[in-house]
Amino acid sequence: MSGFRVGNTEAPRGARVDGHYDSVELVDGTRVQVPLILINGQHDGPTVFIGGGIHGDEVNGVRTVIDAAQAIDPATLHGRILAVPVQNPIAYRARYRLITLNQLDQQNTHRCFPGNPDGDMSDRICHTILEDLIGASGCAFAIDCHTGSTGSRYPSLVFVSTQGPEDAARKSVDAAMVFGADIVVKAGGTAGVYALQSMLHMVAVQRGLPAIGCELGTALPAEERYSTIGTNGVLNVLAQLDMIPARPVPPKPVVIEKIFEVRVDRAGIADYLIKPGQPVTQGQPLARLIDIFGKVVAEPVSPVTGHVVTRTDWGSLNEGDRICRIGTA
Ligand SMILES: [Zn+2]
Repeated sequence: MSGFRVGNTEAPRGARVDGHYDSVELVDGTRVQVPLILINGQHDGPTVFIGGGIHGDEVNGVRTVIDAAQAIDPATLHGRILAVPVQNPIAYRARYRLITLNQLDQQNTHRCFPGNPDGDMSDRICHTILEDLIGASGCAFAIDCHTGSTGSRYPSLVFVSTQGPEDAARKSVDAAMVFGADIVVKAGGTAGVYALQSMLHMVAVQRGLPAIGCELGTALPAEERYSTIGTNGVLNVLAQLDMIPARPVPPKPVVIEKIFEVRVDRAGIADYLIKPGQPVTQGQPLARLIDIFGKVVAEPVSPVTGHVVTRTDWGSLNEGDRICRIGTA
């Protein structure tokens, strides 16, 4: 195996080299530069993409990529790592979920895959990630690290596509099961938000590239207990791919295949009765809603028996706001 080159950055065999990849041009004449960590293992093996920060407020995902890269020794690695701690630098600088530079085209960048080289900034960034980085490097697996968006909180959770070529889907699910997360969401068309065809994990598996995504707690602030789960999860997947030495098998996750959104019919401040990840039964109260005059006006209940996949942690809810998502097998 010779040098591992991505753009202008090249890591010789048995070495790690950090650099940047030029992305879209900005009005002040600068270019967005996507940070790259290239780890070229001393031994032959597959190339794996590890990305974070496609949503700019999801610092636990960014930290996961940084720490996982630090933990990999190029002298003993079998294969190559292409790590991109921040896939969406513009949003990351602003500590905001989305790119805010263009009010006319504001999109959720995570939902713009496979991207479009002739589209808006989000489309172009997704095209760069999928084609110029993942594709051009010959990646055989992709791991994309997320957290809840600002105001929502997850347990540790892996989402994975079951749609597409059988081999890619099976490898993706196998990796999800050893990650070490509390919950695995198998997105086969009924898993609501995770089954959108414009997300990286869905597009990748459709193309025959095994992939998973993970959710690690909440967005800002950074929480080391969650980035540690993410780092261990990435390493568990690399061990399963025989790129690093074997690691202890983590406990089996809860597997979710359907996700139900629970929204409030009254506005108020929520006193939560549930935590992210916990089991709930149908009819179990999820929170008490206190109106602006202090009266308890509602006690929304779980529509199904399952597990709390995410909770809206703002606590101040307008009528129609989502209070949580419940997942079932
Ligand atoms: Zn995200």
